[in-house]
Amino acid sequence: MYGKFGEVLRSELDAIREQGLYKDERVLEGPQGAEISVGGRKVLNFCANNYLGLAADPRVTEAARRTLSEWGYGLSSVRFICGTTTLHKQLERELSEFLGTEDTILYAACFDANGGVFEPLLEKDSAIITDQLNHASIIDGVRLAKAQRHIYLHSDMDSLEEKLKAAQSAKFRMIVTDGVFSMDGHLAKLPEICDLADKYEAMVLVDDSHATGFTGPTGRGTHEKFDVIDRVDVITTTLGKALGGALGGCTSGKKEIIEWLRQKSRPYLFSNSLPMMICGAALEVLKILREDPTPLKTLEHNQARLRGGLRELGFDVDEGDHAIIPVHFRQHEDDAIIAQGMSADLLAEGIYCIGFSFPVVPRGGARIRLQASAAHTDEQITRCLAAFAKIGKKYGAIG
Ligand SMILES: *Cc1c(COP(=O)(O)O)cnc(C)c1O
Repeated sequence: MYGKFGEVLRSELDAIREQGLYKDERVLEGPQGAEISVGGRKVLNFCANNYLGLAADPRVTEAARRTLSEWGYGLSSVRFICGTTTLHKQLERELSEFLGTEDTILYAACFDANGGVFEPLLEKDSAIITDQLNHASIIDGVRLAKAQRHIYLHSDMDSLEEKLKAAQSAKFRMIVTDGVFSMDGHLAKLPEICDLADKYEAMVLVDDSHATGFTGPTGRGTHEKFDVIDRVDVITTTLGKALGGALGGCTSGKKEIIEWLRQKSRPYLFSNSLPMMICGAALEVLKILREDPTPLKTLEHNQARLRGGLRELGFDVDEGDHAIIPVHFRQHEDDAIIAQGMSADLLAEGIYCIGFSFPVVPRGGARIRLQASAAHTDEQITRCLAAFAKIGKKYGAIG
């Protein structure tokens, strides 16, 4: 039987390769950081979610090493059988403190947090109102729930209001949004969303994976930035981006919700506990965030310099203050070709960044997405800007 199936896969794979949609893995030959080894060459990395530069920070790796020696490698159990340690409880407590919530439940990843949050909470008689551009894990999580699904136009408050009106007969309503949308670095309009939630009696869930640790005055996330900490009911987020970058996620919020998830959430009940060394390292990250504002300040400085520098060079870059910085080619017919070509040439210049085009982003919306990190030095950002100036001219993206 397999022969025929394999043939179909082979021809489908060839087809996506021909369309230029095949995803190759670029293999790193050393640790994650501002400078990485790829193909025997050192290049500057502008496409990691390592926002605070903590992925290989000695304080974090040492905490992981220490925890590994003290606690061993793994638990061989789910949480409720024999897979909960004092470290898991401490991390849940400290994440709640950091996020400003009542309680937190850990998952193996934020993908699992989103996969396990909707189905137990929202039954057939309830409604989920979700942004069109929400992360794939939210889309999948929402699919698993029996609740009615309403998809509103991306960050469009009229569309959200319309959907909320349509969902008024539901017993409970939940608005779901990414805190930061990863292709644009745009922040969700949380104050307006919370106002509409009040007006139409809905709960609010924010997935803050691209914000936790570095957005807002003390890095707590978009809810801190917009001063709506008490108006967001549920936060899902990841330990796999700014908070050390290894693995792990959580759902945080009202205590009854978290308690219910511990009883009912399937990725929590039926999947292994987070390794203790990750808990130990994540606790160290939270300690760094409490005691040392340097990474946060450096990231802010770096993103402002990178964004400002690109704008000064004449690139089509929006104003903003998030570490995700898309370089657009909106004035160019051949935007996709420029984005792909430029990113290849930039790599030859030692700058690693990725060009995105349709269908990952809308047609005509091709871009190179840069991500600033606290790990970048001023000199490295200068090199990035110089390479963009050179390659941008070659492609006619700047004058
Ligand atoms: C990265 C990301 C996730 C997935 O996080 P993992 O912990 O890697 O599974 C979920 N939601 C959003 C918005 C993300 O950006």
